[in-house]
Parts: sequence; structure tokens; C-alpha cells
Amino acid sequence: MTQPQTAKAQTIENKVDDVGSRFDALDDESRRGVIDDVISQFSGALGVDWSELDVGCGDYEIFLDVVSSEMINFSEQTHYSQMAESLIKYFDSVPECVESSDYACVVELSKTVKTENEFETFMKNSELFLSDLIKTKLQDFEETAKKIISKPYNEIKRIVKEIHPNSHSVLPSNDKLSDDDREYIRASIVRVNEERLGIALTIRPGDVFDSNLIELNVKNHLAKRINSLFNFKIIPTYEKKKQVAKKLINYVVRREMSTKKSKLFRKKELAVLTLDQNLLGYAFRTAQLEEMMGVVSKEFCVNCLRGYTKNVGCCESNYFNDGIISIQMLDAQKDEFAVVGKKLSRKSTPCSYYTKNGCSLELFKSILCISYVCDKIRYRANKKYQSPKVNNFLKKLNDMRSNTYDSREMLNAMDYVVETGYAALDEINN
Ligand code: SF4
Ligand code: SF4
Repeated sequence: MTQPQTAKAQTIENKVDDVGSRFDALDDESRRGVIDDVISQFSGALGVDWSELDVGCGDYEIFLDVVSSEMINFSEQTHYSQMAESLIKYFDSVPECVESSDYACVVELSKTVKTENEFETFMKNSELFLSDLIKTKLQDFEETAKKIISKPYNEIKRIVKEIHPNSHSVLPSNDKLSDDDREYIRASIVRVNEERLGIALTIRPGDVFDSNLIELNVKNHLAKRINSLFNFKIIPTYEKKKQVAKKLINYVVRREMSTKKSKLFRKKELAVLTLDQNLLGYAFRTAQLEEMMGVVSKEFCVNCLRGYTKNVGCCESNYFNDGIISIQMLDAQKDEFAVVGKKLSRKSTPCSYYTKNGCSLELFKSILCISYVCDKIRYRANKKYQSPKVNNFLKKLNDMRSNTYDSREMLNAMDYVVETGYAALDEINN
């Protein structure tokens, strides 16, 4: 009996990868159609004009080679400008930043960023911009609150009711205000305004020292919000970069050919998903993490599965939609299953994406699934590799489960784990 190959955090290895032969069997016109669609999806996501890119109508390997090289070159050339752009996207989402009179200068500076040095200058200016903005806002809150409490009682009452969510707990029951009451009202108004600013800045616990915005580590706060879509810089060799790029392109080609044929798409049971920047950026990272976990822990999972009666390992629930997961990601999972997993015979298992060969998701696997590192893996990996770098990789991967990230931070956090993963693989291979 064939043993399932994989478990949670592990993905099927033996999908039938017939994309190349199917592509090569197409006539020139159909091949051209697939090529144009795939190039348009990637150029749309990367924001690059590839209308002049000549990939001919040659065989699949040539096509993969040309597009993957272009993808790497473009991503590396635009790495720093993309990071600056991602920070501007963050500032754009905070009205207080956009309203600041200094903001136009920060935006202008971001447009000049091309090199690492220019990026560092931009980051320093951005830190200064945000810390000045916070200081000025906090001073404004103090001054406004002082002005409010110097007003007559009725006026104070009206203003506090307008701005304070728990005005009844702030206002005294009688209409006489002692100095102590006024001081309490002042402090409450300041606190509410500070909390609102904190929420606007999407600050989470841990970002703020003692809930004091002035103590915020602005540098770390901003560092969590910068990313480049395809961070090839952390992939150690050119050969590996090509492999990762090809994996993504391969998937998109497979999609193009499947969506045209699949009954699910033809019957409109599945809408054709637009692969946007965030989805492709996520897939770029999961593809690498999956492969790393395959190297580090697959043999432990295969052995472990033998002990499970139903051979589903720890995939004993629909973990793919557990935790914080966007509708867009759930759609991407359905799409991936329709494109890749549907052909694999499905077992009757607790998770809809488990097939007899293991998990059918690879690119759009949820963070909860991808970062699952059980005690068994931790113990066995420690015993087998005796490597601090492997332990560190497994720890950092597992830590992702306990954090809540917005999509910007998620890509950043994943990059960090990917980097520790390459260091771990390096140690294993040497
Ligand atoms: S999606 Fe399902 S099968 Fe895949 S790892 Fe998660 S729980 Fe397991
Ligand atoms: S070793 Fe851990 S991750 Fe792998 S199947 Fe067993 S419980 Fe699941």
C-alpha cells in the first residue's frame, strides 16, 4: 500500500507535472495565447511593461528560462524602489500622515529611490517624519485637552460627550468640577486621542512601550511595513532564484491551460481569480517554505503517518480556513485545488484539501498550515541535525502562527523565516 507522502506543512511531491509537454503539444496560435496571458499576468503584478519581451513560440523550457530571468532581473533592479513604495502605501493608509504638510516631501523622496543608499536616506527621513508627526500630535492633544477643561461645565460636557466613548465615566455626576475632576477629564481626553492615533497607525501590543506613543520604536515599526514583492535578494544562488521563479511561472501557465479546459471554470462554478501582487508575493514565499520543510522534516512526517489509522496525519480538520485568512486567499486555495489537486484522488478526510498523496495546496496554504511545527518534528530535527540554525528556522516558522499580521507585515515576516531557512539548509548541506 502506498503511504501518504506528506502531512500538515508538507505538500504532495508527486503531482503530475505535465505542463511542459502539454504546452509543447499546443499549436503555435494556442501557445501564443497562453504566453501572452501569462506575461500579462506577471507584468500586471510586477507593474512592468513586458509588451516588447520576445519569448518567441519556442519550447516550454526556453519560455520558462526567458521569463524567469526577466522576473529576477526586474525584481532585483526594483527591490529598493519597491520597498520605498510599500512604505508610502502604509503612510497613505494613515490619514494623519497624508494630512501632514511634510508628507509631500516624503512622497517625492520615495520616487528617487533606486539604490540601497538612497533607500537608507529615505528610511531615515521617513523615521524622522513619523516621529515628528507623533510628537506634534501628542503636544496638540495636551493643548486641546487643557483648553477644553478651562471652559464652562456645559461646554466641557458637550465636548466630552462628542469625543469620549465613555463620557459618563469621565464626567462627574453633579455639575461642579473640582480641580481634580478637571485634571481627570484632561488626562482622559489625551488618552482617547492617543489611542485613536495608535489605531490609525495600526500599532499592535508590543509596538508600544507602556502604551506611550512617544516611546514607540519608529524604526522597528516602519521596518515591519517594508517589503519588495519578490524578494530574490535573500535567495542564495542564481540557480535557486531561477528554480523559485520557474515554479511560480509554471503554476500560472498550468492555470492558463486549466481554466480554459476545466469544467468548474466553464460552468462558472469557479470565477477566474486575478492573481494580484499580494497573492503572487505570498505564493513566492510559501513555495520556498514548503520546499524547506520538505528537506527538513518530510521523513519525520512519513514515519509519523504510519502511526495514524486514517493516514491523514495531523490534517484532522479544515485548517486551511482557520485563523485569520482573507476571502481572497480562500478563493486562491479553491483555484489552486481546481488547477492542481483535482486530478489527485481525494480521500474522505477531515480536510477538504487532503488527497491520498497529502496536501494539495502548496502556494496558497494558510499560514496556520504552513507554519505548523509539531513537537515531534522539533525533537527529531534537533536530534538528527544538531544544528542551531535548523532549530532557529523551525522556531521562527512556528512563531508566525502566534502573531497577527496585516498582509504587509505577513510578507515581511515570511521573508525573515525564509532567510533563516536558507541558513538552515546551508548548514544541513555542509
Ligand atoms: S490544507 Fe488541509 S491538508 Fe493541507 S496542510 Fe492544511 S489541514 Fe493539511
Ligand atoms: S510529524 Fe508532526 S507535522 Fe508530521 S505528520 Fe506527524 S504530527 Fe503532523
